[in-house]
Amino acid sequence: MKEKKVFPSKKNKILHNFNKFVDEYIGEYSKKRNFDFGNSHKNVSKLSPYIRRRLLSENEIIELALSKHSLNSLDKFIQEIFWRTYWRGWLELHPKVYSEYENAYKTTDIPLKTGIKCFDYWTQELLETGYLHNHARMWYASIWIFTLNRPWEDGAKFFSEYLIDWCPASNTLGWRWVAGLQTVGKNYLATADNIKLFTNNRFNPKGQLTENHSPILSSKNLNEEVLDKIPYEKIIFNKLNFDRLGLVITKNDLSLNDVLDKHNKNYAKCLFYNDSNTKSEIVRAFERELCLNVTDELSDCELIENFDNLLMWAKNKKLNCLVFPYETIGTEILNNKILLSKLQNNNISYLFYLRDWDTYAFPFAKKGFFPFKKKIHDLLKLNCLL
Ligand SMILES: Cc1cc2nc3c(=O)[nH]c(=O)nc-3n(C[C@H](O)[C@H](O)[C@H](O)COP(=O)(O)OP(=O)(O)OC[C@H]3O[C@@H](n4cnc5c(N)ncnc54)[C@H](O)[C@@H]3O)c2cc1C
Repeated sequence: MKEKKVFPSKKNKILHNFNKFVDEYIGEYSKKRNFDFGNSHKNVSKLSPYIRRRLLSENEIIELALSKHSLNSLDKFIQEIFWRTYWRGWLELHPKVYSEYENAYKTTDIPLKTGIKCFDYWTQELLETGYLHNHARMWYASIWIFTLNRPWEDGAKFFSEYLIDWCPASNTLGWRWVAGLQTVGKNYLATADNIKLFTNNRFNPKGQLTENHSPILSSKNLNEEVLDKIPYEKIIFNKLNFDRLGLVITKNDLSLNDVLDKHNKNYAKCLFYNDSNTKSEIVRAFERELCLNVTDELSDCELIENFDNLLMWAKNKKLNCLVFPYETIGTEILNNKILLSKLQNNNISYLFYLRDWDTYAFPFAKKGFFPFKKKIHDLLKLNCLL
């Protein structure tokens, strides 16, 4: 199953692959995206590891696709790009859902040999490549919960340790959606026929799956737990003194410099890299390579690996204000009490910057995807993409 390099880490190669996808495959995306044809997955973009870390921004991706195709023909692809935004906004407005998940998972042992051929194949594919097709993720989660009777929280934790695109919101809420907790009372049941069809006859687990099961129940009413709004004050860059400003890029947003560069002023920047706790060597190596490449490609950008060195960097450069990427639920790196108090003690202020893309969209993510979807056209306009 192993293939050479599924996920390159140099931006020019990533853009080259995406251009190829836009030229050759995106036209058939809505017809073919649900098929899991097996490794190399040419019918989908495989952009998730980069969008998750914003090496490529949503704006950049949609702008490139729109430069070659009509809005109508990109409808489904654009909707999918917004699914991640929607999940991130939804979780940001329902933070308790994530802390409950974090308190609930127990084991993350790998379910190696279940005897269900497709499931065992996907386990192996995940371990060896860090990636699964979206439909395979849905089948996998469904078999985990309803056939193997394992807790959904353990499955979500298992994914979090091996997915190369792990996103706390898309993953946790994807698992909750399959379990029937997200669209309350409606669970997703994998069936042998559906797997046979959408794997192009590669698998047919006839008689092996629980194809009828009631949803997992929750005593919580999601509408009672929603925040009114995200506690965020918009940052007005024009009011900041760039001479004493430092940008700290992290793997939550590897292209945030693009936003500051628009102001045509000099500022200091560094990339803060911390080794993630993931069990996957593939994910750790990928992330490290990606961060090293970004540091190399930017001029005057240091790689910094711990809080003390970050403080020292800011002091040496005589900075009095640091800009960090906003950290949504589950992605915290710099939103750390120890670091923030060190900064305060040294009279260095800090601002967590939420991109306009999120600022515009998150307020609409209080309820289901259907009402959110109706806002997509307006959101594209607000982002100057139409
Ligand atoms: C149980 C489960 C767990 C998941 N966990 C993650 C995760 O940890 N990280 C993650 O990035 N995605 C997750 N997803 C969503 C989805 O499976 C992946 O984003 C998608 O498969 C990535 O492949 P792609 O980039 O080729 O997608 P494409 O089909 O090419 O879609 C383009 C982009 O749209 C977004 N997108 C597409 N489908 C979804 C979706 N269902 N939900 C959210 N965004 C979507 C992604 O940013 C993706 O890169 C999960 C889905 C399920 C059902």
